Amino acid sequence: MSMTPAAHAMRRSGKKEKRVRSSNRRIAIIGAGIGGLTLALALRERGIEATIYEQAAQLTEIGAAIALSANGTRELERLGCLPALAKVSTEPTELIYRNWADDRRVAAFPVRMDGAYRKLFGAPYFGIHRADLQTILSAQHGGARLHLGHRLERLVEGDHSIRLHFSNGHVEEVDVVIGADGVRSAVRRHVAGSDAMRYSRTSAFRGIVPIENLPSLPDPEAIQFWMGPNAHLLHYAIGGERKAVNYFAVVEGPEIWPQSGGSTARIDHQVAVDAFKGWHPAVSEMIGAVEHTIRWGLFTVNPILHWFKGRAVLMGDSVHAMLPHHGQGANTTIEDAVTLAELLARADMSDLAETLALYQALRQARTRKIQRSAWDTNRQLHLVDGPELAERDRKVARFADDFSWIHAHDALQTVKAALAEPRLQATG
Ligand SMILES: Cc1cc2nc3c(=O)[nH]c(=O)nc-3n(C[C@H](O)[C@H](O)[C@H](O)COP(=O)(O)OP(=O)(O)OC[C@H]3O[C@@H](n4cnc5c(N)ncnc54)[C@H](O)[C@@H]3O)c2cc1C
Repeated sequence: MSMTPAAHAMRRSGKKEKRVRSSNRRIAIIGAGIGGLTLALALRERGIEATIYEQAAQLTEIGAAIALSANGTRELERLGCLPALAKVSTEPTELIYRNWADDRRVAAFPVRMDGAYRKLFGAPYFGIHRADLQTILSAQHGGARLHLGHRLERLVEGDHSIRLHFSNGHVEEVDVVIGADGVRSAVRRHVAGSDAMRYSRTSAFRGIVPIENLPSLPDPEAIQFWMGPNAHLLHYAIGGERKAVNYFAVVEGPEIWPQSGGSTARIDHQVAVDAFKGWHPAVSEMIGAVEHTIRWGLFTVNPILHWFKGRAVLMGDSVHAMLPHHGQGANTTIEDAVTLAELLARADMSDLAETLALYQALRQARTRKIQRSAWDTNRQLHLVDGPELAERDRKVARFADDFSWIHAHDALQTVKAALAEPRLQATG
């Protein structure tokens, strides 16, 4: 019988898991984004109060929306967030792929229709405003032990603890620190010793438009990809009762990202309009409905060999930021959070290296596979008209079969199964 990654991790360490619970260990989470908040909630469920340090002075999530798939929503349901999420989300009727110039349906799959998606994956698919998701997670968390205005600058490993230095002068000593600090992670620089961030040479224009302002849009409550030469536009409805369409329009370029250091760059509105000139009127209506003053650079993180060093470990965008074409950045971050919480809750600090090795073993291959697939998807969505389109059309028609492994994943069951492997059982 072949060994699972979890078993490999334990065997390499040469030790067995100890199931000693300790609620007095000091756990710090850097970043109060989707990952940091979910991790804090998942730890609390298991009797551990972590402390979160967030650089921003306020928890505000700017702009646009996010799609939560079953692999994310099943975990948020376990954390008690689903009723609140359902109130402000929209479940797409279908997933539809369309051709850029006409509205030919290249392929379509039912989502809300006939309850198809929930039947298949056991949890819903939601389109939600990012600010609503952030509000629900932070309301559930309640704000205790959440320190705003704390930007981590550096970490210093000691023999029995790790020291965190913040730019406001605060210093904290903890047993373990989790870097949920996003694509520009300070914790990653400590763990990996390099930046590893990569500009994808693609960028995006984003906007939210009331459905009634889009008269040419067919199937406004579907999630739809419009595929065209060197660009694509994805949109889905958000907002519960007061529905609007969130769109995300991706183009190739610019070749070099301006050295501003940030994720956005200023543009003239006309740049966005010109990028989609000649596309179907529904696409032009969306792009024209919003005054575009910025474009978003799409950044990823190169594969990182070791996800942890000493007492510091990475999760979410800090370790596997990916192109958003499978809508999986946040969903895989939620999976990381649940996996890590379950493992930390069962471990003693003397187990830390094994615990973190098991976490990496459970998460690295899956997130890498999705990351790689998102790059392939970019190419496929941006083909110019020509002979390759027939093969692309065949590929997107297989979407449900080819990618159900992403949505069917159950992170909690996976980590529990790994911990239950006979050779990992506690000995007494
Ligand atoms: C345009 C776009 C569309 C997307 N659409 C989807 C989608 O539909 N579905 C999906 O699943 N994913 C999507 N994603 C990806 C998703 O947004 C991210 O994967 C997700 O937010 C990662 O969560 P995180 O907690 O790791 O990082 P973040 O949400 O980036 O949070 C990091 C937090 O850490 C804080 N921080 C950073 N540095 C420090 C420091 N030094 N000290 C203290 N705090 C710090 C930041 O202020 C921030 O609050 C999209 C991404 C983009 C760019």
